[in-house]
Amino acid sequence: MRKRDTTPQDNRQQPLFSWTVFQLIFFQIALQNYCVYIISEMNSLAKSDIIACRRCDDCGIRADVKSDNEEVCILQCSICRKEYPFYKSPREERIMRARIEKEKARPEYDIVIIGGGPAGLSAGIYAMRAAMKTVLVEKGTPGGQMAINKGVENYPGFIDINGFDLSDKFFQHAKAYGLEILQEEAIAIEPGIAHHEIRLANGRTLRSYAVILSPGGVSRTLGVPGEIENLGRGVSYCATCDGFFFSGKPVAVVGGGDTALEEAIYLSKISSEVHLIHRRGEFRAGRILQQRLAMEPKIRVNMNTVVTNILSNGSGVHSIVMRDGKGEESELHVEGIFIFVGFTPNGQLVPAGIAMDPQGYVLTDEKCESNIPGIFVVGDLRKKYANQIVIAASDGCIAALAAARTVELRQSGLEAKESAQN
Ligand SMILES: Cc1cc2nc3c(=O)[nH]c(=O)nc-3n(C[C@H](O)[C@H](O)[C@H](O)COP(=O)(O)OP(=O)(O)OC[C@H]3O[C@@H](n4cnc5c(N)ncnc54)[C@H](O)[C@@H]3O)c2cc1C
Repeated sequence: MRKRDTTPQDNRQQPLFSWTVFQLIFFQIALQNYCVYIISEMNSLAKSDIIACRRCDDCGIRADVKSDNEEVCILQCSICRKEYPFYKSPREERIMRARIEKEKARPEYDIVIIGGGPAGLSAGIYAMRAAMKTVLVEKGTPGGQMAINKGVENYPGFIDINGFDLSDKFFQHAKAYGLEILQEEAIAIEPGIAHHEIRLANGRTLRSYAVILSPGGVSRTLGVPGEIENLGRGVSYCATCDGFFFSGKPVAVVGGGDTALEEAIYLSKISSEVHLIHRRGEFRAGRILQQRLAMEPKIRVNMNTVVTNILSNGSGVHSIVMRDGKGEESELHVEGIFIFVGFTPNGQLVPAGIAMDPQGYVLTDEKCESNIPGIFVVGDLRKKYANQIVIAASDGCIAALAAARTVELRQSGLEAKESAQN
């Protein structure tokens, strides 16, 4: 008797269809469905000009192409409106990502100018002519101190021009070259290696390769009782602005420099009498001004005298108390007091680490650049021999030319770094 073969193969049931046949049928069905899907998608693409789609991560609904510019296609979910970048190929994705990173590394501006007085506006003109992407930030009216000066007699090309009109000429000149002007207050500068950041009061941050700081300064106060309380009620730091209100009335002028004498002469044409009060025995003002002062019959000079109190009633200042060199006090009837005892440069924005003198003026080199590369300081905030409109304008020119060079060097340095990385 033949021995029965009990190998496992003999025990297996033969399947109705082989595994390969099953796979073939499965793939045929899948292919059919896929074709149906593709045809329906193509139909809908043709209808709505959609050039790509994907499932939304959030709601699982299809996200269609919203726009297709040269940079990158954007997919947007038709339900939750979430957007996705869409790259047509891995190569395109690589290129786009590299370009986005490059843009992130570049600041939005080449140069940011802070302050729109003569220094800042002049810097703006030169920066625009050097084809720099520039913005000027001004918290008030462009023109700065120049704008409040009624008669400028020493700006070359103009024998006598109203400060407001001269400011407007600077402003129009800068605008003609397309300078962008933001009416905002700058509140901080954060210096960086490749670029600097400028924070504005509205929360915006500007980034630039170079900063030109031109915030000017403010007049110094006497610090006596009645001064701050009567500001605008008889106390003034600008005769050209407020002199008109004291027409035919007695006024006092405090100070011994150019500005004090200029303004005393100016007020003598308007007021009934001008009492010039100076704490020293001689004036600091130039000789020509002193000669002009001596020729003004309405000006009375009180040397070696200080103001110790400003007295007022409900309608404003009515008199001041003075102390002479012998220590004797006297009261003088005046209805206005104009104070020209010095000037404080606006140093609030000066970043830590910038070299300054004890009076708060910033020290710069011949390019108006501070000891922090790329931060330039111009106009009344910069330490120099005199503060004048023509000097501020000249500072602006120098700084803008030098800043443009800095920008070019930084940009070429960045390009070199980028090409080395790629
Ligand atoms: C009464 C008076 C008379 C003068 N007369 C003459 C004259 O006859 N001839 C002459 O040559 N010079 C004159 N000067 C001096 C001359 O006006 C100044 O030297 C000159 O204006 C300085 O220019 P600047 O651009 O440095 O500053 P400013 O003119 O002070 O301008 C600075 C600007 O910066 C802005 N600013 C400040 N801080 C910020 C901030 N954080 N954010 C945004 N903006 C800011 C201010 O609003 C201002 O507009 C006079 C000055 C005074 C006060």
